[in-house]
Amino acid sequence: STFSIPDKQAVIYYERNGGPEVLKYSTEFAVPSDLSATDILIKNKYTGINFIEVYFRNGIYPADFPYIPGREASGEVVAVGDKVTNFKVGDKVAYLGHKNFAQFTKFDSTQSTILNLGQNATSKQLKLYAASLLQGLTALTFINEAYAVKENDYILVTAAAGGVGLILDQLIGNVKKAHVIAVASTDEKLAKAKQNGAEFLLNSSELSNDQLAEKILEITNGKGVEAIFDSIGKDTFDLDLKVIRRKGTLISYGNSSGAVPPFIINKLSSKNVKLLRPQLYGYVAERPEFEHYTKELFDLINSKKLNIDIHKVYQLKDYPTATKELEGRKTTGKLLLEIPN
Ligand code: NDP
Repeated sequence: STFSIPDKQAVIYYERNGGPEVLKYSTEFAVPSDLSATDILIKNKYTGINFIEVYFRNGIYPADFPYIPGREASGEVVAVGDKVTNFKVGDKVAYLGHKNFAQFTKFDSTQSTILNLGQNATSKQLKLYAASLLQGLTALTFINEAYAVKENDYILVTAAAGGVGLILDQLIGNVKKAHVIAVASTDEKLAKAKQNGAEFLLNSSELSNDQLAEKILEITNGKGVEAIFDSIGKDTFDLDLKVIRRKGTLISYGNSSGAVPPFIINKLSSKNVKLLRPQLYGYVAERPEFEHYTKELFDLINSKKLNIDIHKVYQLKDYPTATKELEGRKTTGKLLLEIPN
């Protein structure tokens, strides 16, 4: 190929913690040039926006500066190290990695979390992979490993119209045939959750936590739910403990309202609650795990059992606008960035 790798690239980055105002767009950032023998250089085409970026930017999770966000992307291999055997220049790839709100990303090809899509994958396929990998694998691994959802279970899902939320609704409601109790902040979002497999709809702007607890107990004949997939964190943790069933499983997997503060573990004993605080990577760190779950995810997508709802594709430079909409709770489904050529 005649493609030559430039010295400079466009990226989104920041140099200190703060709100969306700390985000900067530059076209003068250095392209990674220090490829080791097992590294590949990927020219990104699409990258997925995830709420986790907010935690690094606002300081809930530690970041080192200058910080380039981004955890999943798809694109094309443009350079390979001497010892790389499983990728060639020109192969299209989709991967979970770091620093991909950028035109070029260096990736160690011995890591598990990359798919080789071959030379002929289309732009449309690259869009779908970037839109589904992180949130799809999160929902799929969590409903199998954090709590193995069974038919007829009652399951509480928060942010039920969000990126992960719409996938959980479909997998729990339609694929596992359990009862999804969906919580979201508007009726439009709840309608969307319903279209995606949720059965019971609760509006968190209209109901207090006590009223939510009352409704959830009513729906479950006073018993509570078998499991909770909670991404809200601080604001809903006590509610979760009220509505979890005896021997139930509480999966606390996000902090959109802030981190759950430390607490006395005896709080779990009155109902023998199982509590998990999982992260996706812990379920796909080894190659066979990643292969197993990506195969299952794309089988579900290809057989139309799972739909990936793309809210909007933004240009890379417009990430600040995109995250303001995400953080302002204005979006449903998946947000993507398109990387300039
Ligand atoms: P979402 O599309 O779900 O967006 C976040 C949603 O959270 C909002 O739309 C909003 O829905 C809800 N929300 C509730 N309280 C707040 C608040 N105070 N500020 C902003 N939003 C709030 O994002 P993602 O699908 O990317 O992620 C969902 C959650 O899952 C996040 O918490 C994320 O960190 C977590 N996650 C964790 C992973 C893990 O490995 N542990 C992997 C992937 C995601 P509403 O208005 O309806 O309440």
